[in-house]
Amino acid sequence: MIQNSPPIAIPTSIRRLFVLLCGFEILSKSVSTRDRGRRFILSEPVCAYLLDTDRGWVLLDAGLNPANARDNARMEARFWRHGMTAPVVREAHLLDTQLADLGVRFADIGHVILSHLHYDHGGCLHHFPHARISIQRREHEHAFGPDPGMAYFRDEYDDPRLRWDLHDGDWEAMPGLRLLDTRGHTHGHQSAVVDLPESGTVILPFDAADLQENWDDEILPGECCDDGDALKAIRRLKAIERQSGGTTLLFHDPVAIQAMNLAPQGYR
Ligand SMILES: [Zn+2]
Repeated sequence: MIQNSPPIAIPTSIRRLFVLLCGFEILSKSVSTRDRGRRFILSEPVCAYLLDTDRGWVLLDAGLNPANARDNARMEARFWRHGMTAPVVREAHLLDTQLADLGVRFADIGHVILSHLHYDHGGCLHHFPHARISIQRREHEHAFGPDPGMAYFRDEYDDPRLRWDLHDGDWEAMPGLRLLDTRGHTHGHQSAVVDLPESGTVILPFDAADLQENWDDEILPGECCDDGDALKAIRRLKAIERQSGGTTLLFHDPVAIQAMNLAPQGYR
């Protein structure tokens, strides 16, 4: 017998969530899974999430700068010189293209929330001088410090036009959109929990857990600023998934991405 389940009664301002696939990184697996799979090379997706909310369009993370996949001098300086492979960004991965398919312009997005400032999370910030850019204060301080590390591409975020909005710890952007302090991978990493009217709770770990293996086996990211905090972050997000009965969308998992409803489809 089919029973009608009661509607999920979470107060939320979020109407829809779109997964924008912004390209792929070609990496040693051990970049994602500490000490596991050094000889394996993965192509890991890079995403951004677009939210349709009562308060307008909100973008979670700002993708990959396509120049990192096109401009030879840039690829040499940022990747090849260090024995790394440059990312792959095809026409269909461009933020412009995917937003246009949804009828959204950059100017329509008034709020960008960043998990952290590694180059695969804030690469298209140059499109958002009009927007509020929210980030953890600790992440901002580290990224603007003297030696943030190789994965911080300063010229992509040290832009005087950007309007930063700094937060300390957990915060609520609006009903149905919570940001959680999941430091550990970086000094001020944050993850998102989104409540959708039909799908319920969606957990977005970003780089707190790149792959299904990080999530299931509680494997630390390849690089962390604090291992204890990084493990706490994974366990905290898993507890939220259990308690809410929610769904987790992994940011960098090459298998999971293939089962997601990519934009222009979305989640309600
Ligand atoms: Zn990262």
